[in-house]
Amino acid sequence: GNGLENQFGYSIEEAAQDYQFWMKNVHPDDLDKTKKDQQKVFKDKNYNLWKGQYRFKKKSGDYAYVIDKGFIARDGNGKAIRMIGATADITDRRKFEESLLEINNRLIKQTQELAHSNAELEQFAYVASHDLQEPLRMVSGFLTQLEKKYGNQLDDKAHQYIDFAVDGAKRMRQIILDLLDYSKIGKKEEGNTEVDLNEIIKEVCLLHRKQIEELNANIEFSKLPKIYGHPSPLIQLFQNLISNSLKYSHPEIPPKVIIKVTELDNEWKFSVKDNGIGIKEEYFAKIFNIFQRLHNKNDYSGTGMGLAIVKKIVENLNGRIWVKSDAGKGSTFYFTIPKTEE
Ligand code: ADP
Repeated sequence: GNGLENQFGYSIEEAAQDYQFWMKNVHPDDLDKTKKDQQKVFKDKNYNLWKGQYRFKKKSGDYAYVIDKGFIARDGNGKAIRMIGATADITDRRKFEESLLEINNRLIKQTQELAHSNAELEQFAYVASHDLQEPLRMVSGFLTQLEKKYGNQLDDKAHQYIDFAVDGAKRMRQIILDLLDYSKIGKKEEGNTEVDLNEIIKEVCLLHRKQIEELNANIEFSKLPKIYGHPSPLIQLFQNLISNSLKYSHPEIPPKVIIKVTELDNEWKFSVKDNGIGIKEEYFAKIFNIFQRLHNKNDYSGTGMGLAIVKKIVENLNGRIWVKSDAGKGSTFYFTIPKTEE
C-alpha cells in the first residue's frame, strides 16, 4: 500500500519487481532470527498469525524499527502459501523507550553513588569527630597543667594566652560534639513508640527551666498530637528550636514562644513562633546549613549546627522545614511530619 512509500520511501513498483525486496532490507543482524521465527509459525498449522519486530532499511539508508503483523493463508493441506499483513514504523517509540531506559539506568547509578558517598561522609564525620576528641583532651589537659605548675612564673599576658587557648579548645570540643551529633542522626534507633509531643515540650521546658525563669519567658503549646517515632530526635528537634527562640530573643521584650500544629491530610504541620530579633530574608536558606551562623560568637554563643541538626531530623522523618521572619519582630519555623501508623 501507500504506506510503503510514506513510511519507508519505496514505490510499490520497485518493491514488487524484486522478489528479495523484503529480505534485502531487513537489518542483517535481525534477518536470521526473523526468518527462523517466521518459518516456525509457517510450519505449524495451528498458527495463522505472525508477529515480529526488527530493523528495516528505508530508501534513505536509515534503519527504522518496525513492528510487523501478518495473517497466514494456508492451502487445503495447511501449507502456508501467502502472508498478508502490515508493518508499522515504531522508531520514535523505540527511541523514546531507549532514552527512558537510559535515564532510568543513569538515575539508578547516580542514586547508588549518592548513597555510597553519603555513607562514606557520615562515616568520615563520625570517625573524625571521635578521633579528634583524644588529642583535644591532651591539649586542654596540658594547658591546665601548665597553668597549675608554672602559673606563678607567668606574667598576665601569658595567662591571657592560656585562657584564649583553653577557650579555643572548649569551642573546638563543642564543634566536634555537634558534628558527632549530626553524623549520628538517622542511625537506626531501636524501639519506635508512640510519642506524645506535649510531653516532649514539657521535658524541653524542664531542661531550660533556669533560662526561662531568667528571661521571664513564656512558652505556649496545646493539644499537640502523638506521633510514632523515637523520642530522642524529637526532643532534640524541639529543644534546638525553642533554645534558639530564647537565645535570639529581643533584648527588651520577654520571649514568647508559641508552638502550634495544623492537621493536614497526610501530615502534621508544626510552627514554632517567637517574638525575637528575627532573620533577614536573604538568610532564610543559609541558616539551615552546617556551621552557618549570622552572629559573632561573642554576641551569641553557638556553633551554627543547631538548625542543620533540626533539618536533618525533619528530613529523616520525611518532612520539610522552612522559616518565615520579620527582622526585628520575630521568626516562625515551620516543619511537617508525615502521619504514619507504625
Ligand atoms: P547557632 O545558634 O549555634 O548559631 P543554629 O544553626 O541554631 O546555630 O542557627 C543558625 C543561625 O540562625 C543563628 O546563628 C541565628 O543567626 C539564626 N537563628 C536561628 N534561630 C533563630 C531565631 N529563632 N531567631 C533569630 N535568629 C535565629
